[in-house]
Amino acid sequence: MPFHYSDEVKYYTFSSFEGQSIQHAVFTRQGGVSLAPYASLNVGSTVGDDLAHVAENRLRSFAAVGRDIASMHDVWQVHGSAVVFADAPRPPQAPHVQADILLTDNPVVTLYMRFADCVPLLLYDPIRRVVGLAHAGWVGTVNKVGATAVQAMVDHYGSRPADIIAGIGSSICQAHYPVGMEVVEKVRLAFGPLADSLVQKKNGQNHFDLWKANRLTLEQAGVPAIEVSGQCTACHPDDWFSHRGENGKTGRFGALINLAG
Ligand SMILES: [Zn+2]
Repeated sequence: MPFHYSDEVKYYTFSSFEGQSIQHAVFTRQGGVSLAPYASLNVGSTVGDDLAHVAENRLRSFAAVGRDIASMHDVWQVHGSAVVFADAPRPPQAPHVQADILLTDNPVVTLYMRFADCVPLLLYDPIRRVVGLAHAGWVGTVNKVGATAVQAMVDHYGSRPADIIAGIGSSICQAHYPVGMEVVEKVRLAFGPLADSLVQKKNGQNHFDLWKANRLTLEQAGVPAIEVSGQCTACHPDDWFSHRGENGKTGRFGALINLAG
């Protein structure tokens, strides 16, 4: 999971995707123009930051990996399970569709999402040549957004789960993620007896392991190759924005994936 720099923009890639004809990146918060509490590479436009700064930060992010910002297809992330098949870049004037799964088989399109504790799921099928990006907070995780994404790849593109390579990106670690009983109940409903391996009681509080839950979901969906970055957004405040770690007043970092033309 090597880190890379392009000017000051710092991002990493998954070793599992190396040598594949795709580009992808999970960006840190470093290398942008936003001021505190959004310093500096904030790409979230609904968090209170100067929109001109957000636009510049997105440009820098895409430039860092050599992609044209006009190739972007993004969505309005709502903790749902809806899928967008991004057959073309999203026209700048087109409204954002509410969805948390983006898929494409078109090399012209760059899939792009924003995060600050929720789990980025990056997917690639090298046989059918399809890339995917999904956003899984606790709601998306118990609703098994990862499995929905894999099934959509199967149904829409003819992918075989056994061919898919997955990356689980920077998000909040179990130690930093105490949750209420309503979440624990949903985890039990979603994962049955395996829920005990996903929730740990510490100092009287239940902590949910988003990484393990998403890995398990992808495994159950038949995906054999899963790389977990193991980077916690709250453990590393210099590198990532953390909604929990910074009490909600923070930015969003980006992640992108595209087929190389
Ligand atoms: Zn942590």
